[in-house]
Amino acid sequence: MDNKKLADLLYPEAKSVDFWFERYKPRNLPKGAEVTRFAPSPTGFLHIGGLFGALVDATIARQTNGVCYLRIEDTDQKRKVKNGVEGIIDSFRMFDVGFNEGKLSMDNEVGDYGPYVQSNRREIYKSFAKEMVLRGKAYPCFCSEDELNNLREQQMAKKLNPGYYGQYAKCRNLSYEQIADNIKAGKPWVLRFRCPYTQDDKIETNDLVRGNRIIPCNYNDVVIMKSNNLPPYNFAHVVDDTLMHTTLVVRSDEWFPSFTEHLQLFEALGLTPPKYAHTSAMQKIDEQTNERRKISKRKDPEANVAFFVEQGYPVEAIFDYLMIIANSNFEDWRAQNPKANISEFKFDISKLNTSGALFDMVKLSDVSKNTISNMTGQQVFDAVSSWASRFDTDFYKLLSQNKDYYTQILNIDRDIPKPRKDISHWAEVRTMYEYMFDDVFDNLNFAFPEKFSNAQIIEVLQNYPNYFNPTDDQTQWFGRIKDLAEYIGWAREVKLFKQQPDLYPGHCGDVSTILRVALTGRTMTPNLYNICMLLGKDRIEYRLNKVLNKLKTA
Ligand code: GLU
Repeated sequence: MDNKKLADLLYPEAKSVDFWFERYKPRNLPKGAEVTRFAPSPTGFLHIGGLFGALVDATIARQTNGVCYLRIEDTDQKRKVKNGVEGIIDSFRMFDVGFNEGKLSMDNEVGDYGPYVQSNRREIYKSFAKEMVLRGKAYPCFCSEDELNNLREQQMAKKLNPGYYGQYAKCRNLSYEQIADNIKAGKPWVLRFRCPYTQDDKIETNDLVRGNRIIPCNYNDVVIMKSNNLPPYNFAHVVDDTLMHTTLVVRSDEWFPSFTEHLQLFEALGLTPPKYAHTSAMQKIDEQTNERRKISKRKDPEANVAFFVEQGYPVEAIFDYLMIIANSNFEDWRAQNPKANISEFKFDISKLNTSGALFDMVKLSDVSKNTISNMTGQQVFDAVSSWASRFDTDFYKLLSQNKDYYTQILNIDRDIPKPRKDISHWAEVRTMYEYMFDDVFDNLNFAFPEKFSNAQIIEVLQNYPNYFNPTDDQTQWFGRIKDLAEYIGWAREVKLFKQQPDLYPGHCGDVSTILRVALTGRTMTPNLYNICMLLGKDRIEYRLNKVLNKLKTA
């Protein structure tokens, strides 16, 4: 067969691949710089596992003074969903991993190696498809869907591996005339790889996460160009990562089974493949079965990164958590560098987990509490406010009308050596501090410690206003609580109470617990001293009277 004649018949107008190599010159980067990419298909929302991959990509590029770009892989037009690309771009606007180039906004692309959306690269793919034909590595296949199904059934019946290979590759040896006749007759066709390997062949694979492995290789004449002149993933990957000069492909291990096929395609074109790191899919512990399973797009709301935005987890917390999953030593580093930027952490790709990264909401909450505890009251206020303006407009109104007061509430126990770790995400703030507002307070229930009678509680509450002075510092304030304890015959020190428990109904700590419950309806709150100071004498009296009335009528 005259390859040139066939190539010209199939792709008469395609430019030579040299044109594209000339157009997309090697990048001018320092030694050791890695070019990475995140290449999502717009088949729905951005998955938390995708964000994990993108963070790894961007981190590697940044730490090696390389480049990380965003490429949209939309050659599977059937799986494409409406607004899929917008969704991805929007998610990255929020979770800014630091792409240097690519499809970074809907109306623009950044960088010299575009187009970065695969459906706009038809012309390029045609050139490389033609090159495959020129090299005798590809041929057109006219088999219909029905024919392929029949072939599959026959193979299954004979207990053979299904596929288009060897003697079953019907169109592999069509003559030029047969091909030309089919094309003239308008028969649809795809381009197939003329795979030189058999079922017995093995190939050596290199993977930065999994190490070197010799594995059985692809023996199928896989499709490399579909009838709509767009390639499936395999060929698009080879062409794009070559022309965009990717040096390291970090991708999900769902691609590991077709890894050898990709290596064969690089080989067929005489190209050197990039390095690879196949990362395992994100898993979780199923709430019902208690077993590990993949995070599912359909079942798990946390699969979609939008979930974390709606719930108001700070982006820094999500990034910190993903980095802990990626490199377990990140957690120690963070403990030593609580306020450092995540980019200062030395990421190590070989530490990526091979057995399935576990995503755990409880752990994420802890990480997030930690992140938020390092923010100032003002920063927390601004973040909560901006979250509420999108997701809880009533709360937003409340915040806007009480800016100073709310910031002071958030300031409690914050700028101290061991800051308070109560908030994990913004959606929980509203109820967390709602008792600081009198209209909510008015409807609270109060559960006092059961060991005290109503009469004893009433005695504490009735007397407290005489023991509150708004200009006290914390020691003075607590000194007065001790005075009150003593006045009503309780131990002024816990120590005294412990020495002679029969002598006293309670101690100064019990007094403050009773006050805490009466003023907030809760047994756990931030520092009661600050709460008292924020409420002020009048509101303390107002609150205590309300509770006293309830207790007296009970
Ligand atoms: N479009 C592929 C996916 O979404 C990308 C895989 C890759 O990174 O090469 O799974």
